[in-house]
Amino acid sequence: PVEPEAAALTPAEVAALLPRPTGESDKYRRGVLGVAAGSARYPGAAVLTVGGALHGGVGAVRYAGPAHGAVIARHPETLVSPGTPAEAGRVQAWVAGPGLGDHPEAERVVHEVLAADVPLLLDADALRGLDPARVRARSAPTLLTPHAGEAAALLGVARERVESRRLASVRELAERFGATVLLKGSTTLVADPAGPVLVNETGTPWLATAGSGDVLSGLAGGLLAAGLAARDAGAVAAHLHGLAGRAAPMPATASGVTDALPTAWRSLTG
Ligand code: AMP
Ligand code: MG
Repeated sequence: PVEPEAAALTPAEVAALLPRPTGESDKYRRGVLGVAAGSARYPGAAVLTVGGALHGGVGAVRYAGPAHGAVIARHPETLVSPGTPAEAGRVQAWVAGPGLGDHPEAERVVHEVLAADVPLLLDADALRGLDPARVRARSAPTLLTPHAGEAAALLGVARERVESRRLASVRELAERFGATVLLKGSTTLVADPAGPVLVNETGTPWLATAGSGDVLSGLAGGLLAAGLAARDAGAVAAHLHGLAGRAAPMPATASGVTDALPTAWRSLTG
C-alpha cells in the first residue's frame, strides 16, 4: 500500500454500506439530494454532478442552478429549480461547487448551502477562499473533496508540499475545518477530524480526465443524502468511482465513467 498508516475498506464492507431500497421505501425516504453546480460557462459540470448523484442510491435529485436545460436534456429524471439553493425546497443533503465559476452568484450559492442544516459536500469552486470558521459553525456534517491543488490553496501552502505529505495534509485539513476531507489523486484519502484515515486504491490513471471529479462529487453527495456518514460516503464513492473508471470504455471520459457506475455497483452486489 502507498499509505501505510491508512486502511482501505474491503469490497464486502463497501457492499454492506451501499443504500438499497426496501419494501417500505418511497422516493422521499430514499433521500433527495440537492445539486448546486454548473453555470452558463460550465453547464457540463452540472450534468456530470447530477449524473454521479443519480447513481448514489437516492430517490431523487433536485438541481438548483442556471444549467437546468442541459441537465434535463441528459437526465430527464432530475427535479429542477431555476432559483438558488434556498429557494429549492427540502433536500436531505447538498452538493455544491463543480463549475460554479467565480462570479458573485457563486458566493451566494455557497453561503446558502453552508446555512442549510443538512449534510453538505463542497468541491471545486465552492472550496475557493472557504473560511474554516464557517464550516466549523455548521451543525450538520460537511465533506470537502479537494484535489492536491485545491488542498494546497486551503492550507496556504505549495501544491508540492501537499503531494509529498498527503496523509499529513488531509489530516490537517480535517482538523482545521472540523470536517471530513477527501483528498483526490492517484490514491484517494478520506479523513475525519479524528480517527484513522481511509485510503482508496481502486482507481486508474484514466480517471485523470475533465469532469471526473464532478462525477465523484455527485456520487458522494447521493450517498450522503441516502444516509451514509460523511467518511463512509466519501470512501464508498471513491471505491465505486475507481471501479467505474476501470469499467468505462477506453479512453475513459467522465460521461463514460458515469455510465459505468451501474456495472461497478453490480460487481460489488452480485
Ligand atoms: P478532479 O481533479 O476534481 O477532476 O478529480 C479527478 C478524479 O480522478 C479524482 O477522483 C481523482 O482521484 C482521480 N484521479 C486523478 N488522477 C488519477 C490517477 N493518476 N490515478 C487514479 N485516479 C486519478
Ligand atoms: Mg474537480
